[in-house]
Amino acid sequence: MFNKILIANRGEIALRVIRACQELGVSTVAVHSTADADTVPVSVADESVCIGPPQVTKSYLNMHAILTAAKLTGAEAIHPGYGFLAENETFARLVRNSGLVFIGPSADHIARMGQKAEARKTMKEAGLPILPGSADMVKDGDEAKRIAADIGYPVLLKAAYGGGGRGMRVVAKEEDLGPAFAQAAAEAMNAFGDGSLYLEKFIERPHHIEIQILADQRGGVVHLGERECSIQRRHQKLIEESPSPFLARDRALQICETVRQAIARIGYEGAGTVELIVDENRRFYFMEMNTRLQVEHPITEEITGIDIVKEQIRIASGQPLRFRQDDVTFRGHSIECRALAEDATLDFRPCTGTIQNLHFGLGPGIRVETHIYSGYQIPATYDSLLAKFISWGLTRAESISRMRRAIRETVIEGLPTTLPWHSQVLVEPDFVRGTYTTHYVAEHRRLQDPAPATGAGSGS
Ligand code: ADP
Ligand code: ADP
Ligand code: MG
Repeated sequence: MFNKILIANRGEIALRVIRACQELGVSTVAVHSTADADTVPVSVADESVCIGPPQVTKSYLNMHAILTAAKLTGAEAIHPGYGFLAENETFARLVRNSGLVFIGPSADHIARMGQKAEARKTMKEAGLPILPGSADMVKDGDEAKRIAADIGYPVLLKAAYGGGGRGMRVVAKEEDLGPAFAQAAAEAMNAFGDGSLYLEKFIERPHHIEIQILADQRGGVVHLGERECSIQRRHQKLIEESPSPFLARDRALQICETVRQAIARIGYEGAGTVELIVDENRRFYFMEMNTRLQVEHPITEEITGIDIVKEQIRIASGQPLRFRQDDVTFRGHSIECRALAEDATLDFRPCTGTIQNLHFGLGPGIRVETHIYSGYQIPATYDSLLAKFISWGLTRAESISRMRRAIRETVIEGLPTTLPWHSQVLVEPDFVRGTYTTHYVAEHRRLQDPAPATGAGSGS
């Protein structure tokens, strides 16, 4: 096992990784921007190093500053968390070339999955179904039109290097394809520094269901079940749950096993998530692979009892998985609500402010992953995640009722949060029945109406 790990991230996920290190008896180094000097991960880590100003390109994306911090402190390994450098092939390579361990998959696997048209090819060869679409990146609007005519509208243009729901365009008919192509390419160029696009069939009313994988360096590969992530705004998740209410257990396990075998075939190592589109007939298609820890990993931890972050660290240190597929058992139901600094009544507009009164509703079956505290000023520079509420119950109904109770007791004052929206979803019939698709948020706009003052978990 390592003696010291540097955490190249911030916020709740930096704290989550530090906690795993502490449980493993590993020392920690937090790196931070000047804006994050007074944050919880910095204060609980054994050491901390300031790596630059608030702008992410000069701090959390500054590879050389991070590597220098690792050298100076004698860290042996770097955990990238999610976002920032977590899926950056160059960083993974640099870390390894510096004689350090990157806690994640090989740079080659990051590269292959990071180019999403390439990832489609790779996973198709490994045995996963993919949606009809372009075999590779699409050169221009005319090529897109030829492929779209072949597979039929609607189609989805997607950024080859995309992430975070950006650089996507749904196109319903041929005359819209040319302009949409130009817009999506420009948006992708702007967001990812590369305007390459690919195209796939747009599935109406699909489910986003993803499979959590752990793979060690000796060929051991297990899945930890699925997560239903269909409740999204701007193609980004707001609520996740496991198991998926849409899939019968035998169908879910069948899909998980197919994915597990495909991952074994590509020789992947570390934690990873395979995201799938599941259609109304419960047919599934590979969508993309995230070669990192996922925001919503805790719900899988709750139903399996497996600490995914500790397993990532053990795998990176060369240890074999201590369990086989048959040893993994699933118990109960878990839900995550992402409390964001966003105003749902203004179409989830991000907001900033200073946390005033703060109280988390806890109690049986509730876990809160957060870095915020009373007096903490939410910087506008970083993403809007304030806290993750994770509930566990023996049944889905119990998990929902615990989540309702926890959010009802919670007070986050000082800025708008998504909690009033979440508490309305938790009593909304389609959610309660578990019959929802990725169109849920759009089809339930009234949940975004300004609520009468009910004290639903948040105030400003
Ligand atoms: P998850 O599937 O784990 O929910 P998300 O798409 O929500 O993944 O992204 C996780 C985090 O990574 C978010 O904080 C998001 O802002 C960030 N992120 C996603 N893609 C990128 C990217 N290309 N560059 C920088 N940050 C990203
Ligand atoms: P990102 O890398 O930004 O996470 P994804 O490929 O995971 O991009 O897609 C983000 C979201 O867009 C999915 O969660 C899903 O809701 C929607 N989506 C992606 N591909 C399709 C598709 N072919 N048909 C319908 N919806 C899709
Ligand atoms: Mg995705």
